[in-house]
Amino acid sequence: MHPTPEHAAPEDAEARRDIAPVICYPTDALPAPDLSAYRAARESWEKIADLRVPPREALAFDVPAGHFFRITSVEGPQVGDLNLFSADLSERFYSGKTRALHGTHLSRGDRMWSGFPTMRPLATITEDTLDWYGIDAFGGSVHDVIGTRCDPYTHCLLSDGGQYHHCCHSNLTRALAEARDLPLRETEALVHDVLNVFMCTGFTRDTGQYFMKASPVRPGDYLEFFAESDLLGVLSACPGGDCSSEHSSDTAACYPLGVEIYRPKSAPEGWAPPAPNAYDRSHGL
Ligand SMILES: [Zn+2]
Repeated sequence: MHPTPEHAAPEDAEARRDIAPVICYPTDALPAPDLSAYRAARESWEKIADLRVPPREALAFDVPAGHFFRITSVEGPQVGDLNLFSADLSERFYSGKTRALHGTHLSRGDRMWSGFPTMRPLATITEDTLDWYGIDAFGGSVHDVIGTRCDPYTHCLLSDGGQYHHCCHSNLTRALAEARDLPLRETEALVHDVLNVFMCTGFTRDTGQYFMKASPVRPGDYLEFFAESDLLGVLSACPGGDCSSEHSSDTAACYPLGVEIYRPKSAPEGWAPPAPNAYDRSHGL
């Protein structure tokens, strides 16, 4: 937030503001995914699962390495909060570093990176039917890694003690606990910041606040991923529906989300599962 200034601007304030930004993490050195090889592998694929995430609930699904999965809009505009784990839960999606590398919103060719110390791609986005949206006049775009996930704690703070149990955080916790037969408290600690699939978000230019607006997604749209290792995905159909008004309540119109899993006949040409990060972990000692 930006309070009314209490400190006078220095004489060279404008000159300081006029300095051009530099990209924090130029990605030229990152190994680029071979999208043409991924796409060629789809030619022979076979759909092996067609799942539904009920509105205001979450669903866990396993995706073997070398398979593809799609998150699809099936009945109406609906956003989804995606958590991604290695199948053994030892690695988790790191939304902050993914954002630092690929920007605030993800699309085709971007990776979903795991946290330290492995820091490697868990999945690669291979198709995005909303890539036409770009960045709108408000600075909004789709599939963000800037939000966290709607959760009952923030809701409780902002609603004078309100108790709501179908925020994405709770939905993800319940679905993960059931999928891996884990205690609720232990499971909750594994739930992490999400990829907001289909959600249209940005930051207001005047106050820098996180905003959302009606998602442009329509039935038939999808976001497609290639599993770089054996994965467990957990997807929540957000109680905010298309996130045009409010979440953390049963007010918004909500729809299911589809999850389709595909097995190609052979792995993409030249593909190998990514190795763990090569940093030696001595930290200077
Ligand atoms: Zn949500």
